[in-house]
Amino acid sequence: MGDVLKKVPVREQAPKVRAANFEEVCLGYNQDEAMEEAVRCINCKNAKCITGCPVSINIPGFISAVKEGNIKEAYNVISESSSLPAICGRVCPQESQCEGKCIRGIKGEPVSIGKLERFVADWARDNDVKPPAPASSNGHKVAVIGSGPAGLTCAGDLAKMGYDVTIFEALHEPGGVLVYGIPEFRLPKSDVVAKEVENVKSLGVKLETNVIIGKSTTIDELMNDEGFEAVFIGSGAGLPMFMGIPGENANGVFSANEYLTRNNLMKAFREDYDTPIARGKKVAVVGGGNVAMDAARTALRLGAEVHIVYRRSEAELPARVEEVHHAKEEGIIFDLLTNPIEILVDENDAVKGMKCIRMELGEPDASGRRRPVEIPGSEFELELDTVIMSLGTSPNPLISSTTIGLDINKRKCIIADEETGKTSKDGVYAGGDAVTGAATVILAMGAGKAAAKGIDEFLKNR
Ligand SMILES: Cc1cc2nc3c(=O)[nH]c(=O)nc-3n(C[C@H](O)[C@H](O)[C@H](O)COP(=O)(O)OP(=O)(O)OC[C@H]3O[C@@H](n4cnc5c(N)ncnc54)[C@H](O)[C@@H]3O)c2cc1C
Repeated sequence: MGDVLKKVPVREQAPKVRAANFEEVCLGYNQDEAMEEAVRCINCKNAKCITGCPVSINIPGFISAVKEGNIKEAYNVISESSSLPAICGRVCPQESQCEGKCIRGIKGEPVSIGKLERFVADWARDNDVKPPAPASSNGHKVAVIGSGPAGLTCAGDLAKMGYDVTIFEALHEPGGVLVYGIPEFRLPKSDVVAKEVENVKSLGVKLETNVIIGKSTTIDELMNDEGFEAVFIGSGAGLPMFMGIPGENANGVFSANEYLTRNNLMKAFREDYDTPIARGKKVAVVGGGNVAMDAARTALRLGAEVHIVYRRSEAELPARVEEVHHAKEEGIIFDLLTNPIEILVDENDAVKGMKCIRMELGEPDASGRRRPVEIPGSEFELELDTVIMSLGTSPNPLISSTTIGLDINKRKCIIADEETGKTSKDGVYAGGDAVTGAATVILAMGAGKAAAKGIDEFLKNR
């Protein structure tokens, strides 16, 4: 038994090795390591970790089963609350959720709940254990728009209650950001995402890809002509924002979403695919969130020298600490307190550099963070051939503009009740990034779960 105040360390690919491949960085626990870590959980009576989990997994319950070596039971406990544990175990910000509330964290490191969840889910996959079968069908038809974590969770929960659920997905592959945004080296697509989508389908959920609601058909048509009695909108927030500076339309400027989609969904990094991608020699990623780290680490693996250009200081970086740490270990250069003011282009309208200005931190702004202020006369140029803008995203207005009576707010987000997902339109529910703007996988799942309950109440009480 190691130091009880510390997590059992998890094995990872060495930074130099992984910087040149797209294999998963974190290798996870084996059973001995998982059982050793599980012993650190003191099974609190008043388990705060559960309140830190947006889908309320019985965390001490599943960890107790791991302690006893009963991994199948641990999986069943998790499956009562979550359809996507292998995904959450990898990408949830546990430090600010379940692990942030762990009593062990007061004196030492919290229990490694995320890594234990991942171990259990991977064990279930490797041993072909499926989530428990749903109740028999009640014949009521519900449509779910979008197959990201919000849609998959809502669909899975409704299927478990006996509803006849069809997911409509615009892209050719299900998973939302899990397949097109988060890179392979953090979340393997065929071994992890596809398997958990299959688990949701095994509950009886139907999935139709290449259907764009708002173009191929509309919500009103689904409800009036196709016999769907309720609809859940989990269409995410996939529309990228730009800075509006000169040169932003040049060749070699990408949104992070486009860059990552080409690489993750369209497999540009693989020799056997012919998706074009900029294999830049010198790349700047503008922004400091998780998406920026993913884009930077992807460009690095494609062979570039990569700079993160961020206008505040390291303390304000919105990305998870673990992501920044991994990015630094791999050799990403951080140009902090730096803001782009112009993208410089050559005679072929291709990127040749970026004019930037140094910043300093002033008084706190409305978000509570100290406002970055330009330092006059500090302009300088970075020589580059690719710029990736990672400044955030907003919901695509296609669905709201083609659905009668669906209210949105100023940020183009669908207005929905937090407890039930109910929107301004009768029978239509919404959740995830489409409602909150860009957030997290587990919050989207929590919203999908709440909406499944809301839809069930609505259909039972009509
Ligand atoms: C690069 C990147 C990295 C991230 N990393 C993390 C992380 O590490 N941890 C974390 O917790 N969160 C992370 N996030 C955020 C997280 O992925 C999202 O908050 C989450 O996926 C939102 O889920 P969702 O189901 O609401 O939407 P999405 O995952 O965006 O799924 C929406 C789905 O709806 C489909 N759709 C859209 N419009 C239509 C339409 N009109 N008709 C039919 N289908 C439609 C889309 O194609 C998509 O498949 C990351 C995001 C990005 C972009």
